[in-house]
Amino acid sequence: MKVWSLVNQKGGVGKTTSTISIAACLSALGKRVLLIDLDPQSSLSYYLGIDSDTLQHTLFDVFTSPQNTVKLKAIVNKVTVQTSIQNVTLLPSHMALSTIDNALSQQTGKGLIIKNALDCISSDYDYVLIDCPPVLGVLMINAITSSDKLILPTQTEYLAFQGLQRMMSTLEKLRTNLKQDARILIVPTLFDRRYNAAIRTYSLIRETFKESLWKGYIPIDTKFRDASAIGASIVEVAPESRGAFAYEKLTNDLLKHE
Ligand code: ADP
Ligand code: MG
Repeated sequence: MKVWSLVNQKGGVGKTTSTISIAACLSALGKRVLLIDLDPQSSLSYYLGIDSDTLQHTLFDVFTSPQNTVKLKAIVNKVTVQTSIQNVTLLPSHMALSTIDNALSQQTGKGLIIKNALDCISSDYDYVLIDCPPVLGVLMINAITSSDKLILPTQTEYLAFQGLQRMMSTLEKLRTNLKQDARILIVPTLFDRRYNAAIRTYSLIRETFKESLWKGYIPIDTKFRDASAIGASIVEVAPESRGAFAYEKLTNDLLKHE
């Protein structure tokens, strides 16, 4: 089982869209995928038609469960729900997760809860995708400590570039502190090649972070909006679109560098 997290402290950069699109591509390749909605705003859960605030069991239960293997495994199995995408299951979020930093403030090992939970179910899935909140806290730390890869969607705008520099140095520090060696892959998103500013920012990212930059980009595509409106992925709704092709290429490249 491999774990890939979608991280960026900025919102609206395409983390949730990337999570669902990559999941659909992996599903099409016959892989078993577990999605983890780590964002208390529950966008991924809502996207997939699951109103997490009305559920009896959510990811919140995993965080507050006794941390022994038998209990954790039972809770994880109780929380997982099947999505409309074949072979894709979800651990739905809950808004109560926004208080988890305080709730767990004294608990030792609070950064390893997701890793422990995944260790209990490692034979059930091929890939785990974690959609992170845009907040640096216990939740994001849990994602980083569990991950084999950190996927960093970033908009190709000058202001986003400054955020990217900050995020990269934060991730480097965290990886050192957590003794984590997950590879970071920057994925340019919402790329609009009609604008010089987008092309210039793309070059700037390439000059600064050549090693970590994916060689493609995700174009801006209105089909993403069509897809989210009906709770499906772009790969299912518009398989011939530029957006779908871009995520297929990204998924293949991620698998190649495994
Ligand atoms: P995040 O999870 O980082 O906050 P989202 O994935 O929710 O970002 O994306 C923010 C908004 O941008 C959503 O409305 C989504 O439909 C839209 N979006 C994301 N990627 C694209 C794209 N490549 N082209 C057009 N719209 C996009
Ligand atoms: Mg999101």
